[in-house]
Amino acid sequence: MQSLLDLFIPLKQANDMSLFDTKHMKRALDAAIEAGQRGEVPVGAVLVHGPSDEIIAIASNRVMELKDPSAHAELLAITKACAKLNNERLVDCDLYVTLEPCPMCAQLISFARIRRLYFAASDEKGGGVENGPHIFNAKTCHHKPQVYGGIMAEQSSKILKNFFKSRRNPKKIKEDVKHG
Ligand SMILES: [Zn+2]
Repeated sequence: MQSLLDLFIPLKQANDMSLFDTKHMKRALDAAIEAGQRGEVPVGAVLVHGPSDEIIAIASNRVMELKDPSAHAELLAITKACAKLNNERLVDCDLYVTLEPCPMCAQLISFARIRRLYFAASDEKGGGVENGPHIFNAKTCHHKPQVYGGIMAEQSSKILKNFFKSRRNPKKIKEDVKHG
């Protein structure tokens, strides 16, 4: 069986067990499911003050609801947290998000000085961290968070797949459920 530790990149702090606590990612997955129920692409984000382990903000996609192409879960969580802490920098804060951030959100994560980024599923088509422009590796990126990918990725992928499947064919999902 694949060790849980194998799922994380990088592994340099593998001795710090607090890094592998999945409770915040579970909360982010709940937020993703809730977004899917509203008809939004199911992505959720939880922003945590690392040292105190206190949740500062929880958000999920609201692009359609707000008629705002920038209303991604990460962006909403970051702006909410900045307002709450009355600070444009989220020092010592960690972001848990259910999908690899897009280039816009990755850049924002850098601007906000997020300490650690934990994400679940990778996004080959739309990601900007380990795919696409690799924002944190760009010369123009002046703050690079520690990045840990693949946390509960399977659960997140399942939520996304079910969402797109039901959008493509709402009737088939019902039949699938009926036939077990
Ligand atoms: Zn984004």
